[in-house]
Amino acid sequence: MRSPARPPGHRAPCGALTRKKQPCRALSEPGRQRCRFHGGQSTGPKTPEGRARIAEAQRRRWAAWRATKKAQEDG
Ligand SMILES: [Zn+2]
Repeated sequence: MRSPARPPGHRAPCGALTRKKQPCRALSEPGRQRCRFHGGQSTGPKTPEGRARIAEAQRRRWAAWRATKKAQEDG
């Protein structure tokens, strides 16, 4: 584990250094170490299972979008 155990939903001060070289005073996102400004974004699924899952989810989203678009064109 990269971080010490914390209760779920715990919001600690972020503490990342700002451009003023001051510790960030925002609270971290629940269950995370840094605030929403400093946490960075996910770089996406890493495992084959995760990649397959997101691919399937996107297929469903596109299928739903195409269905609504076609309904509008037909209407
Ligand atoms: Zn921060």
